[in-house]
Amino acid sequence: MRFRVSQELRQSVGSEFSMELRQRSLLLDDDAVLSDLRGSVHMLRTDRGLLATVHAGARIQGTCSRCLATVQTPIEVDFQEEFIPIVDPVSGAHISAAEAEDSFVIDADLMLDLGEALRQYALMSSPSKPLCRPDCAGLCPACGASLNEGPCSCQPPDDERWRGLAALKSENQEGS
Ligand SMILES: [Zn+2]
Ligand SMILES: [Zn+2]
Repeated sequence: MRFRVSQELRQSVGSEFSMELRQRSLLLDDDAVLSDLRGSVHMLRTDRGLLATVHAGARIQGTCSRCLATVQTPIEVDFQEEFIPIVDPVSGAHISAAEAEDSFVIDADLMLDLGEALRQYALMSSPSKPLCRPDCAGLCPACGASLNEGPCSCQPPDDERWRGLAALKSENQEGS
């Protein structure tokens, strides 16, 4: 998600630019991936750098907090952040780090990287405990089998419905 902004930074304060955002996938953290990001970034030249306004939609692929199945959740990623260049776009002189503190920076090659900001905002708008379905039954604490498929063999099924199924299952196993 890197954009060369050397031209944009040479424009006068108040100049505006728009770019399309498209990213097939972006790793958010150890167990979440952003996919099919589509949207736009609008940039405004400020006296310090570029103010980026992002409107995008994407899907977050994570794991169900109960059964660990893969879950896709659609999310909106909307944010506004100022990006400060660490070098002057005209003279190439380094700008003091203090000035860019707490801001996203545009690197010495005048490349603006939206990746980290997108990652942070996407994580903020992602569900903290995603579920594959509202009534997900989770995993058996003893054997780790997904209980969405029915009771596992280490737990005696107490539901009439499952008792019938379990009997059928053992019959089949004996027969083979
Ligand atoms: Zn689940
Ligand atoms: Zn079990």
